[in-house]
Amino acid sequence: MRKFIFAANFKCNQTRAGFNSYADALNSWISDEEIIVFPPSCAFLNRNLRFLQGAQNFYPCQNGAFTGEIGLEQLNEFGINCVLIGHSERRQILGESEEFLRAKFEFAKGQNFKIVYCIGESLETRESGKTLEFLGAQLKNIDLNYENLIIAYEPIWAIGTGKSASKAEISEILEFISRKTSAPLLYGGSVNLGNIAEIYGINSCGGVLVGGASLDAQNFINLIKETK
Ligand code: PEP
Repeated sequence: MRKFIFAANFKCNQTRAGFNSYADALNSWISDEEIIVFPPSCAFLNRNLRFLQGAQNFYPCQNGAFTGEIGLEQLNEFGINCVLIGHSERRQILGESEEFLRAKFEFAKGQNFKIVYCIGESLETRESGKTLEFLGAQLKNIDLNYENLIIAYEPIWAIGTGKSASKAEISEILEFISRKTSAPLLYGGSVNLGNIAEIYGINSCGGVLVGGASLDAQNFINLIKETK
């Protein structure tokens, strides 16, 4: 069967109680699907999960004086060995620079963590015709040969807007990235029940990173079912 990753990014949504019920629903439905869920860190669960629990964010440290952050010690308590790095909301809203993202990447790589590394262009960059150049520069920041790397292509203009990139746009970019790395390539940006089948049909696409449409467990399960 084709390997296809379904990753859910809850962002600043869900509570621990809510995620616990979500996990019950996913645990009782899942068979051999590869699913990663990124809850907010205050909702991490320490229980049997039949999917991978990942961290949306961390500070590249064991522990220490980094107010408001979590480090390796906190991730280890929940057995977390998968992290999201480079999401456009952290780049843009929280001001994470390429240099800081590289530090996070190197730290997570040093732990042999699975890394879902996000890249994506703004509408302005797309309209200036410099998308490939821009994405190529973003990719230069990390080790593309890292064995536990997954890359998520998420055009910023498609995130949370209800306007997904087209099949042709996704294919062009994923093919461009696949010439640089053999890492699985995800697409993210307004993936929903209505477009998942088409996205699944893109050969170079190894999965999806889903925000809004992943927040309700049944909706996320229905979305996965659309690929069967
Ligand atoms: C995301 O947050 O990575 C994302 C793709 O969000 P949405 O699916 O809501 O566009």
